[in-house]
Amino acid sequence: MTVNGAALAGAETMDVINPATGEVCTNAPQASKTQVDEAIACARSAFSQWKTTTIEERQSLVKQAARILEANIEELAQILLLEHGRPLQGCMMELQAAIQYFDDFAAMTPEVLVTEDSDVRRVEVHYEPLGVVCAIPAWNFPITLSAMKICPALVAGNTLVLRPSPTTSLTLLRIGELLRDVFPAGVFNVISGNGLGSFLTSHSGFDKISYTGSTETGKQVMAAGADSLRRMTLELGGNDAAIVLPDVDIEKVAPQIFFGAFFNSAQICVATKRLYIHADIYEPLRDALHQIAKASKMGDGSEPDTVLGPIQNQRQYRSVSALLEHAQKEGLTLLTGYQPENQEGYFIPATLVDNPPHDSRVVTEEAFGPILPLIKFDNEDDLIQQVNSSKYGLAGAIWAQDTQKAVTLAKRMDTGTVWINENLYLPASTPFGGHKQSGIGVENGMAGLLGFMQQKAIYIPK
Ligand code: NAD
Repeated sequence: MTVNGAALAGAETMDVINPATGEVCTNAPQASKTQVDEAIACARSAFSQWKTTTIEERQSLVKQAARILEANIEELAQILLLEHGRPLQGCMMELQAAIQYFDDFAAMTPEVLVTEDSDVRRVEVHYEPLGVVCAIPAWNFPITLSAMKICPALVAGNTLVLRPSPTTSLTLLRIGELLRDVFPAGVFNVISGNGLGSFLTSHSGFDKISYTGSTETGKQVMAAGADSLRRMTLELGGNDAAIVLPDVDIEKVAPQIFFGAFFNSAQICVATKRLYIHADIYEPLRDALHQIAKASKMGDGSEPDTVLGPIQNQRQYRSVSALLEHAQKEGLTLLTGYQPENQEGYFIPATLVDNPPHDSRVVTEEAFGPILPLIKFDNEDDLIQQVNSSKYGLAGAIWAQDTQKAVTLAKRMDTGTVWINENLYLPASTPFGGHKQSGIGVENGMAGLLGFMQQKAIYIPK
């Protein structure tokens, strides 16, 4: 682990499982609660100096960190492949996106806001760091989700303790090691371990919790922060709908829709999780998607022709398997994709569900795995009512040739993001956050950076 700019061995170790085999492949440090206290105390002590640095100095160090990650990208991608199971190309994509976040946040500067400049006074609104930030990312995109926290937190002048998800700690531990000499001691700490979530989120040493994970856990995180009114950003679950209008070119959009639903074996908060297809094109698009699912090899990510890897961890594997079994028991029609050969790993074939009822669990619940319900529609008002019936409101997508019509529909969707004829693009420039129970606050964009700061209004007499 990295604490106070130095290596810290865990009090114990925890097993790391290769999800492609289901076997223990190595181990990672398990921090004790005393070590967590130590990391927070170091971050607190480093904050008093770090907050006095200029934003330009901090941006320059974040940029320096980007170059170090870039120089080590191949090694990092191999570690990520081992612990995550995703094919190498997808691991490289994630790391490149994460490096881009480092560069983009290093170029973001909040300006002092002047709200009055009269004969009587000048009022300036300044932005100050919050203090010590606790960053808890989910396991599905551990590096980019962490970069969306590390970069703005440090640029804003906070210090940080990052606790990766226990099933994807290795790459982030290595990143902590690589960046040890970039930031002053105690500014960027990386600890790891199982069972530390609620200890961290209720710890009085933190000024802000930046959390990515499920809605259910998000509610616990929020409750844990109530006593001290800890600041928090919660990026939570989603059950994202995509709508396909009848004017699309099926051959062109089918691979794009498949990618938006099944990339990373569908373990993406903003993946398409319900696909609403206009009745006029339902059958041909369903069949095209089924062909792609059958042709997309699922297997060990280290094999070069693998398109879809395993489910990342056993808990998620069990949860997705249970949902699939329930769909089978309900008698739903399942269109199964490529059948993986290795049954020992956490593999679930890409599965399309042919026009299930609106109230079936595959439609109402977030699978966070490769099960995609295809739902036929022919009335737009009914469609929007169904799309918006979810407690979630993270993102959505519309596929259409008529972009004006798509924009009109996008405005009617109760979600924080809507893509038209693309999917999954989350640049640092643009706020990203959930409506309804998909989250509180936003990451990315200037609003995301300001989420790691507090405002101070200074009234200056003339
Ligand atoms: P999870 O909530 O079970 O766990 C996420 C993280 O929280 C892990 O690091 C876990 O160790 C930790 N944790 C567990 N219990 C905790 C507690 N009581 N207090 C504090 N931390 C605790 O989520 P998951 O199943 O691992 O991740 C999948 C979910 O994350 C999905 O719902 C997905 O949509 C969501 N997600 C959201 C986004 C987003 O940006 N909105 C991005 C990725 C994933």
